[in-house]
Amino acid sequence: MLTPVLEKVLILQDRDAHRRGLEAQIKAVPGEIALVDQKIAAEKAAIEAARTELKELETKKKLLETEIGSAEDKLGKYKTQQSQVRKNDEYQALGHEIEHTESAISELEGRELEVMYAIDEARKKFAAAEAVLKQNIAGHQARIAVLNERAVALKAELEGAAAAFQAARGGLEDLVLRVYDRLAARALPVCVPIHGGKCGGCHLKVSSEVESAARGKSADGKLAACDQCGRLVYWES
Ligand SMILES: [Zn+2]
Repeated sequence: MLTPVLEKVLILQDRDAHRRGLEAQIKAVPGEIALVDQKIAAEKAAIEAARTELKELETKKKLLETEIGSAEDKLGKYKTQQSQVRKNDEYQALGHEIEHTESAISELEGRELEVMYAIDEARKKFAAAEAVLKQNIAGHQARIAVLNERAVALKAELEGAAAAFQAARGGLEDLVLRVYDRLAARALPVCVPIHGGKCGGCHLKVSSEVESAARGKSADGKLAACDQCGRLVYWES
């Protein structure tokens, strides 16, 4: 039998559960935002990695250009020297150097061309990746905005829920509230029905005394509590 007191306790418990649910949701928001922040950081790191790859290729190209430039200087010097030497063996030796330098230059130019193709590819890939990543980042930022809005709405809802919880306490005697608070400090639910002779909270069998008290048959009209877990119990036929 559900006494008027237990009815009030059930209302209090309901509002308490609502209040706690909102609190848990509010508490979870910063963690959810942190997860999205991590995703943003990962996207940014991916953009940076692509940018670094491109920069490395450009550095490689510059080094090759410098190498080609100094090889060309060397070639020019050999050619000038060759035009000035009189001895045949010296002339031939310089001719050998010139040939050697020319083939080195053409090899360097081949490598430069490869790097230029790679830069072209990397640039295209970078632009495409950057577009996708920026779009992802925008999506993540929108998600954060939604989460922040949600937190504000939840806090407003919690204010109402907390007030409703307090209002429900108003209708109960201190002794009942003390029992409620002690049980609620552990976990909800505090007040449960008995089904098939078992407590709806711990699912263990209650004693026949508790059962008759829950049925409203005890003389003193005290609140019936499960003799296993201490939760307030009521009979639900
Ligand atoms: Zn129990």
